[in-house]
Amino acid sequence: MLAADEHTLKRPNTKIRLNCDYCSKIFLTKSNFNNHMDEVHLKLKKFVCDTCGKLFATFTASQIFEQTCNKCP
Ligand SMILES: [Zn+2]
Ligand SMILES: [Zn+2]
Repeated sequence: MLAADEHTLKRPNTKIRLNCDYCSKIFLTKSNFNNHMDEVHLKLKKFVCDTCGKLFATFTASQIFEQTCNKCP
């Protein structure tokens, strides 16, 4: 499910700045950001996408995702 993220990691020249929506921490790499999300926030998974069953730490995140998940049957 996270395969798309691996493509991003293969571009070392691309400077990205990721801001955690939950605790405002800033990360310079997507892997650090993903690790942070998994370890600190996503373990709290309480909200589920009604369409595909994906879990989210916040209601807002699940709502945003669901808006792009309409293609799921
Ligand atoms: Zn955070
Ligand atoms: Zn979904």
